[in-house]
Amino acid sequence: MDTLWEALEKYAKYLDMEVFVCSRAEISRLVGNLDYQRKMVGVDGFCDYESSLIWVYNRSTNPKSFVLAHELAHAILDRDLSEYWKNKKRYELRANRVAAIVYEKTSRILPPWFQFTPPEFDELTAQRIADQILEFYIA
Ligand SMILES: [Zn+2]
Repeated sequence: MDTLWEALEKYAKYLDMEVFVCSRAEISRLVGNLDYQRKMVGVDGFCDYESSLIWVYNRSTNPKSFVLAHELAHAILDRDLSEYWKNKKRYELRANRVAAIVYEKTSRILPPWFQFTPPEFDELTAQRIADQILEFYIA
């Protein structure tokens, strides 16, 4: 894993969250919630703040550090899962915007489908959250 990944993992620890990189079946077993597997079809990661876990799919279609940055944005902004399920579309765009800024700030190339993600909340907040997530990143 690269230096960005390591810095993001450190930030997850700082939030008292554990990061798991594994398959959907493995995380469902680990959490003891088979509902997870159903919910995670077509998903690259998941953040469950109440259970203090962040899951990154080991065969994610997006770069794993991007997925982890996205999940950390959820960990900061979307701690209430019932609120999340009600606002899923908007919250996903928001987490993508933060992850995109994390990529910009660390001079990484964004997956092309994220380059035009419209900011769904004010840009200053997005920048601030990205800075927070990058607290342990050394360029
Ligand atoms: Zn998400």
